[in-house]
Amino acid sequence: MSMAQDGLPPLREVIATHGLHARKSLGQNFLLDLNLTSKIARRAGALDQCDVLEVGPGPGGLTRALLMEGARKVVAIERDERCLPALEQVSAAYPGRLEVIHGDALEINPLDHLSPPVRIVANLPYNVGTELLVRWLTPETWPPYWQSLTLMFQKEVAQRIVAAPGSKAYGRLSVLAQWRTEARIAFELPPQAFTPPPKVTSAVVHLERLETPRFPANARNLSRIVALAFGQRRKMLRASLKSLGPDVESRIAEAGIEPTQRAEQLSVEDFCRLSNRLLPD
Ligand code: SAM
Repeated sequence: MSMAQDGLPPLREVIATHGLHARKSLGQNFLLDLNLTSKIARRAGALDQCDVLEVGPGPGGLTRALLMEGARKVVAIERDERCLPALEQVSAAYPGRLEVIHGDALEINPLDHLSPPVRIVANLPYNVGTELLVRWLTPETWPPYWQSLTLMFQKEVAQRIVAAPGSKAYGRLSVLAQWRTEARIAFELPPQAFTPPPKVTSAVVHLERLETPRFPANARNLSRIVALAFGQRRKMLRASLKSLGPDVESRIAEAGIEPTQRAEQLSVEDFCRLSNRLLPD
């Protein structure tokens, strides 16, 4: 039996041994090439002084890469209990460096298990990834407990995260991400990189936190304004924000913004000003 570079069995064998046929309901598309998972781990930054939070380790391809790249400790949250024995083997190969938590990442607060600096890395189902991304970007206070996020998305979502005003992809995710982080698409991955292959191309996005947000605003209020404005993105702001009160049109103008503009024309700075004017703390 041939072994991988880390002395553990190749991932195809891990999957066969533990009967890990991918479940669609859990968004399971596995990465079985350790060269590829190492590329993702390296893109996360220098790991040797960091704890890493990994969400959705599955059979452990990315987990193994994070450990090989020298992460001080990896805390991995996995919902599918079928994966736990395989992850246990990884844990045994790296004594004291991998802690696996069985559960739903949307329900678990991993903070008790991590010490700063923390980097977050994940190849997650896209809906869970988007939900977690928004939560990671919108805590009340800033900076957050993490330094960076390195996340797999479908390419179209990745493009939304980094999109500039005026483009079709520009939306809620662009504003929230670019307000508080430096967000870049690191590289794309074709469907064949995954087992089973998904229908679409994927992309790894790297977001490095800014120490202070680009413009002052309250996270909850900004999220609300952006959700309203892009909820009806083809409408003028005076219509999409109408629910905020009868005088909304004049207050939009007071923020220095034309009430006849549409959400996609506003910069991140415009949204912050609008939020501060329309929803003062
Ligand atoms: N990281 C592995 C890889 O790259 O091969 C697996 C990636 S697969 C796309 C997503 C993984 O996330 C699956 O193992 C799935 O069971 C897990 N998962 C799905 N929803 C989850 C949730 N809410 N919380 C934690 N893990 C979840």
